[in-house]
Amino acid sequence: MTYTDLYIDGAWRAGSGGVRFDVINPATEEVLASVASAEIADADAAMDAAAAAMKDWAARTPRARSEVLRKAWELMTARLPEFARLITLENGKARADAMGEATYAAEFFRWFAEEAVRADGIITHAPASGARIIVQHKPAGLAVLVTPWNYPAAMGTRKIAPALAAGCAVIIKPASETPLTMLALMPLLAEAGVPKGLVNVLPSRKSGALVDHMLRDPRVRVVSFTGSTGVGRKLLQSAADQVLKPAMELGGNAPLIVFEDADIDLAVQGAMLAKMRNLGEACTAANRIYVHAAVAEAFTARFTAAMAALTMGNGLDEGVDVGPLVNADTRDKVAAFVEDAVAKGARVELGGFVPQGKGYFYPPTVLSNVPETAACVHDEIFGPVAAIQTFTDQEDVIARANATEYGLVGYVFTQDMKRGLQVCERLEYGMVGLNRGLVSDPAAPFGGVKQSGLGREGGHEGMLEFMETQYISASW
Ligand code: NAD
Repeated sequence: MTYTDLYIDGAWRAGSGGVRFDVINPATEEVLASVASAEIADADAAMDAAAAAMKDWAARTPRARSEVLRKAWELMTARLPEFARLITLENGKARADAMGEATYAAEFFRWFAEEAVRADGIITHAPASGARIIVQHKPAGLAVLVTPWNYPAAMGTRKIAPALAAGCAVIIKPASETPLTMLALMPLLAEAGVPKGLVNVLPSRKSGALVDHMLRDPRVRVVSFTGSTGVGRKLLQSAADQVLKPAMELGGNAPLIVFEDADIDLAVQGAMLAKMRNLGEACTAANRIYVHAAVAEAFTARFTAAMAALTMGNGLDEGVDVGPLVNADTRDKVAAFVEDAVAKGARVELGGFVPQGKGYFYPPTVLSNVPETAACVHDEIFGPVAAIQTFTDQEDVIARANATEYGLVGYVFTQDMKRGLQVCERLEYGMVGLNRGLVSDPAAPFGGVKQSGLGREGGHEGMLEFMETQYISASW
């Protein structure tokens, strides 16, 4: 069953304005569903429901909250193929990527079920005054969650699970391209024991006005956003008026560095993961691949062969590795990056053209000899295009890797661990993969520095984003 209405106070509602919008299957360009578009009155109803539900939820014991989250993990894990299918239908990603996302998404419920009972505080003696210092964490308040289209399930659960673990109620605004997965999660959460009103979903074509309205409601205390840096900046401005607690997971421009002493097969495998997981539509995608000149030819040949072996097609079909991009705009942007790089001197090793026919497809593409002036060196490609450059000097490649306003993730390949760790520490990134092309893990603090964001999701830090620290100075 496909759910297409707003989810407010545990019930499906058509939306106060009666407006609906289409969700498109990017593989076929056909309409998948017509979804209700939330208006301001719906946001008010959702905030009323969330505020009411939070009173009881925040008062429950951490163990009681934990058990609901654990049940959500069990239920979602039992239904991974259903969620994966829906993810592929609305986002386009191939079946294996969609199963990977659904599994990752479910794991946040398990991880935060485990974290819900570990919001440790401290009690200690004040060094000089004789007072006791008691520090504890309390639920911060209503949280507005805004998520992107590239991970329709995981970017939602990565926020919902810690918020619920912390004792908060949430209102989610999923991306308009991919609202169906988040809506489909709601009956599962109800079955797991999430009380009505605690989690509300508001797809909307009026994202800006809707979110802005909620961020100005005094009951809202947290805004957690995953998406582009441009929209993140706007939300930070809106959040300033009420001094909200912001969690911002923004854009990236990940460097992937292959040193001359790297295990080349491992580096190729890592680069394939870092570039092609989710079709390159990931904030963690390797955007700039720097290969030492001594191994550039070998790396490029093996990497290009691995890219050439991928099968492109409808993500639902057996044997397909690479589905379509999410929409025409994203595909056109990717094509423009390739044209620009080629015009400036890059060489096309593979792909590099928009195929004929239906669907927003763009083939796995490898560019070598990419000049520093190419637009794709400075902006997120967000597609299956690998941009390879060379280097000869370690200091030079570190400087080039850091020369960006982004700081989400970097990747380093070398067999010399001393060198590897030294370079990792010098990279101005919130996360680094050392001899690994994948860093995402529910148990680790995910997030960026510089203009890639504020705050962390997952790990122990993830739940604290939805909590306020209270300190009591006591004498007895
Ligand atoms: P986007 O910023 O366009 O949209 C993200 C969400 O914000 C969507 O729900 C959208 O409807 C909503 N939105 C758009 N304008 C808004 C406004 N003015 N006010 C309130 N909400 C608004 O991003 P996208 O295109 O959906 O996703 C791609 C971007 O997300 C990339 O830049 C990518 O790097 C980033 N991303 C970051 C992470 C991370 O964890 N750092 C993870 C995934 C994606």
